[in-house]
Parts: sequence; C-alpha cells; structure tokens
Amino acid sequence: MPHPNRLRSLLLLLSLLPWLAAPYGHCTDIQLPDIGDSTGTLLTPIQERELGEMFLRQLRSQATIDNDPETSDYIQAIGQKLAANSDKPDQPFNFFVVMDPNINAFAGPGGQIGVNSGLITMADQESELASVLAHEIAHVTQRHLYQSVEASQRLSIPTVAAMLGAILLGTQSPQAGQAALIALQAGSLQFQINFTRDNEQEADSMGMQTLSRSEFDPRAMPSFFEKLQQSSRYAGRDVPEFLRTHPVTVSRIAESRARSESFSYKQYPDTFAFQIIRAKLRAQMGGDPNEAAQYFKALLKQGTEQQQDVARYGLALVQLNQSKTAEAIETLGKLARKYPNQSHFLNALAQAHVTAGRYNEALGLYDQALTRFPGSRALTMEASQTQLLAGKAERARKLLTDYLRHNQATPQINQMLAQAYTKLGSEAEGHRFMAEYYYQTGQTRPAIMQLKLARQTAKNNFYLSTMIEQRLSELLAEERARREER
Ligand SMILES: [Zn+2]
Repeated sequence: MPHPNRLRSLLLLLSLLPWLAAPYGHCTDIQLPDIGDSTGTLLTPIQERELGEMFLRQLRSQATIDNDPETSDYIQAIGQKLAANSDKPDQPFNFFVVMDPNINAFAGPGGQIGVNSGLITMADQESELASVLAHEIAHVTQRHLYQSVEASQRLSIPTVAAMLGAILLGTQSPQAGQAALIALQAGSLQFQINFTRDNEQEADSMGMQTLSRSEFDPRAMPSFFEKLQQSSRYAGRDVPEFLRTHPVTVSRIAESRARSESFSYKQYPDTFAFQIIRAKLRAQMGGDPNEAAQYFKALLKQGTEQQQDVARYGLALVQLNQSKTAEAIETLGKLARKYPNQSHFLNALAQAHVTAGRYNEALGLYDQALTRFPGSRALTMEASQTQLLAGKAERARKLLTDYLRHNQATPQINQMLAQAYTKLGSEAEGHRFMAEYYYQTGQTRPAIMQLKLARQTAKNNFYLSTMIEQRLSELLAEERARREER
C-alpha cells in the first residue's frame, strides 16, 4: 500500500480527474471514490479554491502575471461584471492578465481566468475581449475543464496544477518540463485538454447570453473567433494558442453568428478604460519601441478625437521607455488637464515624473489625484510605491493603513506595508506584513517563518506579540491539516 498521505492525494486527484478509474501496480486494491466529478459533487468549494490557488501559484513560476494596478483593476472589473451576469453569479472568479504576445485566454480550476496581453491588444472592440471572457466563464460554470483533462497516471496535485498551467499557457517552461518528466517517469503520459464540440457550443451559447445581459455585443463573439481563425490562415502565423484548446470550425462560427442574430442590434461603445488599458499593454509589450511609436503615430491620423488622445497617451508611454521624458511629460500634462475625470492620465503623468526622478512633483500629483479619486486602489498603490521610493515611509504607511480600513489587502499592499514598517524600524510589523504577503501568494511555509521572526522581535510588545502568536497558531494549524490531507 502507498503511504496514507499519498493515498489521500491520489483519492483527491481521482475525484478531480474521474477518468483515472484504473490505477495499476500496487494501487489496484484501493477503493475508488464515486467517479463523475464534473457535476461538482466530490470536490468541495474549499478544495476547489485551494486547487485554484495552487494553479495560480504554479502559473506565477511559468509566466509573467501582470501586476500593474490599473490593468488588474480593469480586467477584474470587466470579468466580475460578466461573471455576475453568468448562469452561476455566486461562483467565485479571479481574473488576471498574462504578459505574453501570443493570443490566448484560459480557464483553470477554481474560477481562475487568465487572458494574454496579446489577445487584449488584438481586440478591436471591448465586446470582443468580453466575448472571450464570457466563453471562458461558461467553461467554468459548466465544469468543462474537469470533463476534458485526460491523464493516465498517478500524478501528484502540484504536478497536475503545473501541467495544467503549461498546457493552458501553451508554454514549455523548465518547471513545467520537469513536471512532465516526473509524470513520464511514472509511466505513459496522456495529459491534454480537448474541449469537445459540444463543450464549445455550450460555452458559445451561454457566453452570448452573458454578453447580452452585461451590455456587450453578442455579435462580437462570432466575428472575433473568425478573426482569430483568419489571422493564422492569411497572415501565415502560427495557430493562436487559443484555437488549440478551443477549436473553432467554420460551422461553429456560422452557428454562433446565426444565434447572435436573434439579439437586437444596437451600438456598443467601448469604455475609456478599455482603450487606455489596450494602449498601455501595447506600449509595455516590449519589442522595438520605434515600431510601437509608429503604430501610435498612425492612429493619430484616424478615429475620433478621444481615440486620438488615447493614441497620444500610448505614444507618451513609448517615449518614456525611450527616455524621451520631457516630451512624454508635456503630452501627458495636456491630457490630464483636458480629461480631469480620467485618473489614468494623471497617474501616467505622475509616473513620468518618477521616471525623471522628480519625486516631489509626482507626490504632489498623487495628492491631487487621491483628492479627486478617493479610494482608488490603483492610485493608492502607485502613490504608496512612489512615497516608498522617495523615502517617505511614514506617509506610505498611513496611506495604506487608511485604505485598509475599508478595503481588503492585496499581496502588493502587504509587501509595501512590510517595506514601510521595516524602513521605520518596526521590524516585527515588517515581518508580520511580509508573512501576509507570502500567505496570500500561497507560500505558507515562508509565511510561518516570517511570523516566527516577528515573534522574536516583538518580545517587549505584549499586544503585538499576542496578535502574532494567534496568527502563527492559525497558519500552523492550517499547514498541519494540509499535511494530513496529503
Ligand atoms: Zn472554449
């Protein structure tokens, strides 16, 4: 018999991957749980969330997840709006952007939905991006992932999480390669995702309902999928990764086009935020900055005045990368004055001053911005980061602490608070917030170590010691439970 912990992990895996119905070798005498988890009966919501978090952790080691506060605010906002209008509005979701020029989007376990920057920059309308997200949301609510993954071996859950990551990202990172090697050593390997034709049609039709309820254009779905297909056919490029996991056929496009015709026709203008984030991602995507500058310059000659201003913003971001700071500051200053209700322009102007090393100007702009947009998560984070750079640790500490009175901490906020406290000489608090950062990014053991360090340095502070002690025992209990589960 295998070690009991191995057995538990195998059973949990089997409940995840129900087709693993015939383990062999020394495992054949294991009583298998009822199979057919695609209905969601065997995986508790907590187990599913944990698998999702592990999947996200694995992704972080395989891909660059965009931590830009404005980009994450945007993708969460559009994703959560769609999720709230899906067939399962209570299902938890997390949306994030992967910095990768390949055209791809994917849904992992636990409602983790990733979309590549390349897909966002390729979308001509916001409804096109929304249609991909709505399609992925439907794969999650219909539990298609659990129906489609195939494995023929006893794989540990971290291996499954790593391999899922590699497959969905379409990459072969060293980490994913290693996971695949381990699986290969364990026997023959068949592990792939193939959404069926039925899965795809269901995701299209449910996604279209979601789009319509969320005030996005259902017609964008067939037209975007068609564009994806044509981009590979005519431009001679490789097949977009998205089409490998979500096969698009002519008949599928025809079917979804026919379905979309049942929705009444109207105009669906893009939000300003979408245009801004798309320009920002294009400016950040690397490659030749001269090419990016040419792209934005071409846009200056077409479209509406607002679209031209977004192109000016994109060009200014490219100029910042090219160290043309003065030109960028001039453009961004004009835009910030012209659009006083747009936080993105003011933020970019402040960031341009940071790039030029003019922290005081930047801090002044952030004071203005936070008065105008109080409680903005992106501005709070950028302002705190700038305060830390400028050596104003106490101001950063206060800004973040005030923000946390009414908002939840993100990993980046905990990390900045740790920095601020450390600079202020409060070592115990520094370790305590660092522990929360590690915990939130799924690294429980380093979190426990930070709490132990915090406990050592907080000896003389009774109140703080008690708090640290309590948190430490919570995390230790959780770690014990996790070890027993394996
Ligand atoms: Zn699909």
